[in-house]
Amino acid sequence: MQWFYDLPIRQKQLVGLLCSQVISIVGVVGIGAWLIVAGGRSQLLNQAKSELAVTEINYNIKINQMGFGFRGQSDNTAIIAATKAHAAARLLEPALREQVKQILQNEIKARKIEYATLVGKDLRIIANANAERTGETFNPNNLVSEVLSKSRQLKTSEIVSWAELDRESPPLPEGFTDRDALIRYTVTPVKDPDTGSALGALISGDIVNFKLPIVKKTVDAFRSQGYSAVYLRQPTGKFTLATSLERTGLWKSKINLPLPDQSLLAEAVDAKGEPVTRRLQIDNRTYSLAAKTLSNFAGEPVAVLVRGTPETALNQLLKGSLQLQLVVSVLALAAVGFLGILLGQAIAGPLNRLKQSAQEFSASNLQVRAEIFAADEIGQLAAIFNQMAENIQNAFEQLEANTKDLSQLNADLQEEVRERKQVESALRESQQRLQAIMDNTSTVIYLKDCQGRYLLINRQYENLFHITRNQIIGKTDREIFPSEIADAFMSNDQKILAAEMPLEFEETVPQDDGLHTYISIKFPLWDAKGKAYGVCGISTDITERKRTEAALKQAQSALCKTNAELELRVQERTAELARSNHELEHFAYIASHDLREPLRKIKSFTDLLVEDYRGQLDAQADKYLDYISDGSVRMQNLIKDLLTYSRLGRNELILEPTDLGKILEQVLLDLSVAIEENNAAIAADSLPTIQANPQQMAQLFQNLISNALKFRSDAPPQIRIEAQLQQSEWLISIRDNGIGIKPQYTERIFEIFQRLHAREKYSGTGIGLAVCRKIVERHGGRIWVESEPAQGSTFYFTVPAAG
Ligand code: ADP
Repeated sequence: MQWFYDLPIRQKQLVGLLCSQVISIVGVVGIGAWLIVAGGRSQLLNQAKSELAVTEINYNIKINQMGFGFRGQSDNTAIIAATKAHAAARLLEPALREQVKQILQNEIKARKIEYATLVGKDLRIIANANAERTGETFNPNNLVSEVLSKSRQLKTSEIVSWAELDRESPPLPEGFTDRDALIRYTVTPVKDPDTGSALGALISGDIVNFKLPIVKKTVDAFRSQGYSAVYLRQPTGKFTLATSLERTGLWKSKINLPLPDQSLLAEAVDAKGEPVTRRLQIDNRTYSLAAKTLSNFAGEPVAVLVRGTPETALNQLLKGSLQLQLVVSVLALAAVGFLGILLGQAIAGPLNRLKQSAQEFSASNLQVRAEIFAADEIGQLAAIFNQMAENIQNAFEQLEANTKDLSQLNADLQEEVRERKQVESALRESQQRLQAIMDNTSTVIYLKDCQGRYLLINRQYENLFHITRNQIIGKTDREIFPSEIADAFMSNDQKILAAEMPLEFEETVPQDDGLHTYISIKFPLWDAKGKAYGVCGISTDITERKRTEAALKQAQSALCKTNAELELRVQERTAELARSNHELEHFAYIASHDLREPLRKIKSFTDLLVEDYRGQLDAQADKYLDYISDGSVRMQNLIKDLLTYSRLGRNELILEPTDLGKILEQVLLDLSVAIEENNAAIAADSLPTIQANPQQMAQLFQNLISNALKFRSDAPPQIRIEAQLQQSEWLISIRDNGIGIKPQYTERIFEIFQRLHAREKYSGTGIGLAVCRKIVERHGGRIWVESEPAQGSTFYFTVPAAG
């Protein structure tokens, strides 16, 4: 059904009109046709019944004619004479007999019947028209006895057996043989004119079988068309066609055409003389049939008359009426179509325009208005639409103005909400952070209101005192701790509230493993109005610290004692060491000093030996002489250096203002040969004047610069001397571009006799830097080197600034 609702109005109208028209046409045509057919059929059946009456009349006419004729003959003198003679049991005169026979034969000829017989009172044949049967008893179905006894004419139809017919041998209709026949009988009494009593009877018999006229007359009576038949019914109940005719046109006839089924006949028998009707097909044509039985004298049905009225006329009538209805229907449909178009233009057109307007309006064209075509409902609808559009437009404009305000308001609100959300989230975050901090600290944190009721505690509190924050809220310390402890807590809290500032307390509290000591920092909590609403406490367990402090105190006193002892021992050792150092230096000095004289002797005699005897001894001796000379030179150097080193510790250090610039100048002058030989470039900052020993400073610069020249690389040496004042000391640096020193040796080289190379490669005693360190340290400074192999080294030393 939805599809119908979804159709456009124009199509809905058309479908509706067409459907209603088709229904009415089909109804009118169908019911009309049905009425015509039903009425026609019942009319036809009635007509068949009426026509059957004509058949019956036709059937009976002959009997009546026979009856009438034979009533006349019964008055015939010859007949009466013959009957009287027979009754008197006299022999009939041949002439009379012949006359009677002639009368009878004339009768059958004239009337075209088969039987004409004169029977005496003794039921014996006096004379008959056909085969000679005089003297035979003739009383078919006791009809003769009946007439004789009642002395009244009798007309009936009877079935006569073939044996009887054969005996009579009447002139039979063509083709009729060896079968029972339906015979229309009249039995007329021949009365004694004097007495009036019956002396005999005249019997006429007309075989119905194969007699066309009976049926032909009926057919002829009704436009020479239709079907007419007579059936005979044997006592067995079997029906046999006696005669029939079907005529469908002027020259189209069929004789002896049986009914296709005999049920109509059986029905007629059941109806006991009343006509019955039925529609039946005979030879492919439909007939309205009527049938009726005829009874014999005994009252048994012996024949059935059938009349069939053709339905051709009805069919033609039907055809004509249907054609007419068809034409009317087509005209009606055309009218519907026209009406549909008219309605479509009148209704759907304005509706569509209205719809378009509504569509345009809904597509935000608020200016659009519907056209008003007429004052009908659609026109009214259009007017209402226009009114509504007007209202909506007004409302829309109002709405737009409101929306503007609202969106501004909304933007403000959103901004506010956003800010609030930010604040909230920041607050939440900070709360979470605070909570996390509180929960993840080993200190105990708690918040109480001014009455000492708990507001919040941290996890450490929960863990230590086995109470959850939900359980503790609203409780006071008295409900949790022993009363004296709780009182102490609460009195501290009150002190905070009174003081209105943070205070620190040492508090004790019992825990699972005994009494613990806490340092509690407590401070008041302020509300927005600046009023204290509670106290917050942060308590740190210092039990362990306390224990440690006690232990530490003990240990400290023990340590002090040990320290004092140690100090004493160190002083003793240091004094011992200084003594032994001094002794050692003294020994070194004495040794080197004392060794110098013999060594000089060895050296001068070796020089003499070389001078006087070189080339006079063999080559081996010359080589030995060189070794001795070289060894003594080295020994001299070693002793000189050793003496220098030991002297440094021996004598008291005498400090005086020393201009390092000048010292450097002198040193460079001393080293000028080596500088030139090495093609070295030396640059120096202006150096300060300090409190120092000038000889030792000269020694220091000499050692460092000569090393820089000695441990040169392939490139000409470049030496730079800088001085930098750092707070209370000068930092002096001597940088070269020589071979450099591996990092692992930068400490070792300052020790005495530590050398990094073979003597053959670089000469030296390994005492130079040890001397430098001693000089610097004696002046209260430090010395060190920073170097990178193959890049160069920078030797730094510090000396206290003057003043
Ligand atoms: P000596 O120079 O007599 O060998 P030093 O005590 O003066 O003894 O130096 C010790 C060692 O330090 C040297 O043998 C040398 O290997 C290293 N050294 C000292 N100065 C330098 C320098 N400027 N560049 C590279 N190596 C140096």
